[in-house]
Amino acid sequence: MMHSRAANLGTETAFSVLARAAELAASGADIINLGIGQPDFPTPPHIVEAGIQALRDGHHGYTPSKGIVSLREGVAKSLYDSYQADIDPDLVQILPGGKVVMFFATQLLGEAGAEIIYPDPGFPIYASSIRFSGATPVPYALSEAKGFALDADDILSKITENTRLVIINSPANPTGGVTPRAEIEKLIKGLVKHPHVYLMSDEIYDKLVFDGSAMTSCLSFPEIRDQLIILNGWSKTYAMTGWRLGYGIWPKSLAEAADRLAVNNHSCVNAAAQIAALAALTGDQACVEAMRQAFQRRASLIHNGLNALPGVTCAVPTGAFYAFCNITGTNIASAELQSRLLEDYGVAVISGTSFGEMGEGYLRFSCANSDESITAALSRFADCLNQLS
Ligand code: PLP
Repeated sequence: MMHSRAANLGTETAFSVLARAAELAASGADIINLGIGQPDFPTPPHIVEAGIQALRDGHHGYTPSKGIVSLREGVAKSLYDSYQADIDPDLVQILPGGKVVMFFATQLLGEAGAEIIYPDPGFPIYASSIRFSGATPVPYALSEAKGFALDADDILSKITENTRLVIINSPANPTGGVTPRAEIEKLIKGLVKHPHVYLMSDEIYDKLVFDGSAMTSCLSFPEIRDQLIILNGWSKTYAMTGWRLGYGIWPKSLAEAADRLAVNNHSCVNAAAQIAALAALTGDQACVEAMRQAFQRRASLIHNGLNALPGVTCAVPTGAFYAFCNITGTNIASAELQSRLLEDYGVAVISGTSFGEMGEGYLRFSCANSDESITAALSRFADCLNQLS
């Protein structure tokens, strides 16, 4: 029998779909992957060169557990430049992926009897790591009718004396929604009245906001700083998912414990990768804007294509690189459609149910593929729907 704590661990379907797509491709199938959430661009060359040079220069050893000082200072400076936020570099922790911040935050704050509030649909590891900590996951709904933006009053109404943490994510995976500033401000004004509750803002897509929307970082509200944990990193902004790099900004009360968790867990992040990360922050940012524009163009291509299909509607994606389309009009369950699309038509997408119960009736399409592949995938989706209807 599985140990009870192990039984609490969930997973990320995107990785199993990726594996199945690779298996099908290896057996000769022509697969278009709109499943996994990672940029299809290579890491910009000046960043790759900095990593190679770091290895040549002998950066082969351990670094301080929190990360090299120049990189922590670089993160603080970049956040000042973006959000005029004054960050103490000592509260910046370099980690092997932004994902680690959510794991550390939930493990540090969760325990039996505690409650952690998180978005549904949302990144699946929120609920998994909350359960693994022993805490009770308390979902809040993100609805299409509200542009997939969070509803501050709804979240605040779920706070009890047992609440330890609220998780928010804008721009959001899987919905592509961006929450307007007024709503985030309302949430923060409410949360400061509950000093026993921390807020983890997952801002991993902060540089992927499409024209007409605006990023609001929780860092631009100093009043919440003592309760605020920021999750961010290089994966999405600089196409560096495989380098495994991310960072957390911790409140003073948790920074020491987060560092101890790092020492217990991974010691420090790969030294050469940290030097490359600094080159990403200090180098030309034109690559970030070029990728943002490409994702915006493709999101619009997917959005238009999906809306032309029978039984499918798709809200305009406002950020990140996902289109979350409503398939209730097809009368086919999300998981079934995910499976038919991959197995019979060679198109990998993710069922909305992988992101929580509220995801039934939706499919997530990643925009991280070429215009040609997106167009071909849409045409196969049309064939699939014709066949199944
Ligand atoms: N947060 C969200 C909302 C994500 O979608 C992802 C990656 O898919 C992450 C965090 C993790 O990013 P990283 O690759 O830096 O661990």
